Amino acid sequence: MTTSETEGAASPPRRRPSLRFVKLEREIEGVKLTLQVSPCSWMYRGYGLQVAITMDGGGAYILDKSTPFESATSADLERLFDKAKTVSCSCCGKPAFDPEACDTNREGKCEACFMKKLNAEFARGRQKALAAALQLRARKKKAGFTYLVSAWIHPEEGGDDFEIHLWYRQPPDAQSVETAIRKAGSEVFDDFLVVQL
Ligand SMILES: [Zn+2]
Repeated sequence: MTTSETEGAASPPRRRPSLRFVKLEREIEGVKLTLQVSPCSWMYRGYGLQVAITMDGGGAYILDKSTPFESATSADLERLFDKAKTVSCSCCGKPAFDPEACDTNREGKCEACFMKKLNAEFARGRQKALAAALQLRARKKKAGFTYLVSAWIHPEEGGDDFEIHLWYRQPPDAQSVETAIRKAGSEVFDDFLVVQL
């Protein structure tokens, strides 16, 4: 009898589950960390194995160039997860990604503290810009200007919109404003605001 020789030959080879959809979770000091494989690992040949790790809404990456996605196993993911070290947030002490161990721009701060700092910087920047704008208006007024036209230029050739300031000693007439906006390369001529100084 030769049945035993052919046993199992008909069943297809076992395929390992794709790592594309694997989601691993760990917990460090009460904070949940999630690991997933970054799509660039299978989209770009020779990229290596990259994982994205998220914690409290913040993310960090770890790239292992020497492991191609095609031959990566779940053990590789666990190994990379081990590498995702955390440090105590420099502001509040909660776990934060260790900037030495993973690719992160959070500077050793937890997500909440990092966002707080970012928002504060943004608010400071806005305040400064506003103060500078008011100062400029005051100077122009002193110099005899009575109107400011703040116009948004929508470049004909594409690219980002930008703002220009036109200063007038008399109430601006529509024609001169349009000419100035056209000269600045805009394809829209009515996106402006007139401010009396
Ligand atoms: Zn913090």
